Amino acid sequence: MTRQQVSPAPITLDGIHRFDDSLPDDAVCLVTGGASGIGRALAIAAAANGLTVAATDVNREGLAETVDRCEELETAGSVRPIVGDLTSDRDVERIVVEAAELGRLTFLANVAGVQHVDSIESFPMDVYDRMQRIMLRAPLYLTKLCLPHFRESTEGCVGNMASVHGHYVTSDKVAYNVSKFGIRGLTRSIAAEGDGSIRSFSVSTGYVKTPLVADQIEATAEQRGISAEDVVSDVMQGQARVDELMEPIDVANLFLLGFSDHGRHLNGGDLLFDGGMTTTYE
Ligand code: NAD
Repeated sequence: MTRQQVSPAPITLDGIHRFDDSLPDDAVCLVTGGASGIGRALAIAAAANGLTVAATDVNREGLAETVDRCEELETAGSVRPIVGDLTSDRDVERIVVEAAELGRLTFLANVAGVQHVDSIESFPMDVYDRMQRIMLRAPLYLTKLCLPHFRESTEGCVGNMASVHGHYVTSDKVAYNVSKFGIRGLTRSIAAEGDGSIRSFSVSTGYVKTPLVADQIEATAEQRGISAEDVVSDVMQGQARVDELMEPIDVANLFLLGFSDHGRHLNGGDLLFDGGMTTTYE
């Protein structure tokens, strides 16, 4: 039952918001984490909006499934899979080169992420370093490499996946908390160095129905000495007033809004769509 509660509905064209008129039709959108969850939903939604998508991930099979789903949906834009490991600088460099070969590289979505549940005293430092490389260093390095392309075409935007954990923190997730607070700092730094036509924004949600969430139920239950059902109702729903977890496609739609012309005044800001989780308490 708990697994079912955190399993997403299949992605259909009906669930994808259309921003075709306010997105450039010749743009390439580089999406990390494109093999699963939010990154996959964003790759599909961006392709449905006519963008050429460079979807990168370490998971080759997952990327192939993302491409297959786009073909099934007959999206207007296509998805090119680029296998790469964000902990490797050489891979990061190759990913940007391959994305830029597809056309005018205009959008970067830093979505890939991982979770590890352990107290500070028990937190393995190699895991901490790996998480920072994936969720903070790679987004910065990808941005650094994309900026010259943005400047060449005089426009560009970086969308960063943050979290409620970039606003407040829960125990036993120190590496995740630090990286999500950090990515909001990166977002503002990009805005500071952009000129308004090169922008950035972050997206902060509560829990979304993805494998990253399903996979942490057991560890969280053990860590807190509670049942899996209570992890979903008390920890994941937590203070949220909206009584359902978000779908990955809901998050993908927020990225497209931010990238589109409707988002032109969104610069350094955060789209906090958390159902009231961080803004209310009983
Ligand atoms: P997910 O596990 O479904 O997808 C994450 C993807 O990142 C996977 O495809 C994985 O292969 C990829 N990845 C991991 N390590 C990588 C590496 N070294 N190189 C390249 N790719 C790598 O997770 P998700 O829930 O879709 O999470 C996506 C993002 O959203 C993460 O940054 C996460 O922190 C954030 N987020 C998720 C939730 C949620 O509730 N699911 C809530 C807020 C924020």
